[in-house]
Amino acid sequence: MARLYESRKRILVTGGAGFLGSHLIDRLIDQGHEVLCVDNLFTGTKRNIDHLHTHPRFEFMRHDVTFPLYVEVDEIYNLACPASPVHYQHDPVQTTKTSVLGAINMLGLAKRLKAKIMQASTSEVYGDPSIHPQAESYWGNVNPIGPRSCYDEGKRCAETLFFDYQRQHGVEIKVVRIFNTYGPRMHHADGRVVSNFIVQALKGEPITIYGDGRQTRSFCFVDDLIEGFLRLMETGPEVTGPVNIGNPNEFTIRDLAEQTLAKVGGSSALINEPLPKDDPKQRQPDITQAKAVLGWQPTVELSEGLDRTIGYFRDALPRLEG
Ligand code: NAD
Ligand code: UDP
Ligand code: UDP
Repeated sequence: MARLYESRKRILVTGGAGFLGSHLIDRLIDQGHEVLCVDNLFTGTKRNIDHLHTHPRFEFMRHDVTFPLYVEVDEIYNLACPASPVHYQHDPVQTTKTSVLGAINMLGLAKRLKAKIMQASTSEVYGDPSIHPQAESYWGNVNPIGPRSCYDEGKRCAETLFFDYQRQHGVEIKVVRIFNTYGPRMHHADGRVVSNFIVQALKGEPITIYGDGRQTRSFCFVDDLIEGFLRLMETGPEVTGPVNIGNPNEFTIRDLAEQTLAKVGGSSALINEPLPKDDPKQRQPDITQAKAVLGWQPTVELSEGLDRTIGYFRDALPRLEG
């Protein structure tokens, strides 16, 4: 899209080579903005942004957000952080540093530049929730010392920092609590349930249901989520969030396994494996606020989203594993 130079923004996306970041960048470039993608490529890959390398409004910088960053931008989306349990538990100390030091550095940058900044927070701030569905007013039920804590508490502390930078320094903040999101460019081997089940079904391997499969999740297709990000960023300074973005349609993990297998076809068996420690039993967003404040709600049903994600993996898997 052509955009007048005066209305063109220079936008920083940290974690831009990851799953969500790369989709966000595609939308921002389509809208005519300039994008600086900052990523240390821990879980992201250049493959996700390969198609942008020759684009005149796109720039990539390999950098770890736990270190200061001095650049000039108008807006910041802070997505840098490993997101799947397998990856964030691989180096838990680095995970906490990424959330906490990364937030401090990006907020320091936003403060100096008087730039709007959005934090990619997570439904994990609700922990293993004792109320259902989860509204933003719920404070959560998080284990501070378990294997998921580096991620959950890191993200909670990042939210604290965002609100204190707003109160103390007047930084214009937006906090989005993302519920399980899936789609093309998910990492094929990071252990998240949608990618795991699709890859297992495509390879004819057993589909691994952890526990009895009765735990629930609510799955949002990536395009819907990115639309929510953009709408939140467009709001005035009075809208800070935190705001839940996710799809309220809740499924058991066994449902997801059965639907995935039916769509992919093949002869994979459904097998049960031990449930990881502190695995939340249920999760469903209350999106009343997103509807009221952003006029946002998801539009892609799980069945359609799964078809699109399966299509991506059918095509990409040989390259990803090759
Ligand atoms: P992802 O792993 O694909 O992307 C994260 C990106 O951050 C990767 O490209 C990785 O290399 C980069 N990164 C990690 N540590 C970094 C560091 N120290 N410095 C610079 N870059 C670093 O995961 P995603 O699903 O795209 O998640 C993006 C954001 O959204 C994360 O902050 C995650 O916590 C949040 N989120 C995602 C989901 C989801 O369902 N996908 C749910 C809740 C929250
Ligand atoms: N920072 C940064 N880029 C900037 C400005 C600040 O990376 O353009 C980092 C800097 O390293 C600092 C952190 O952000 O440690 C927090 O900045 P702030 O100004 O809030 O704190 P101070 O510099 O007073 O510690
Ligand atoms: N899960 C599963 N099999 C897998 C991967 C995950 O049964 O191969 C389960 C996992 O135990 C959890 C749910 O699926 O109950 C979602 O897991 P994911 O890691 O995708 O996200 P999160 O637990 O962070 O919501």
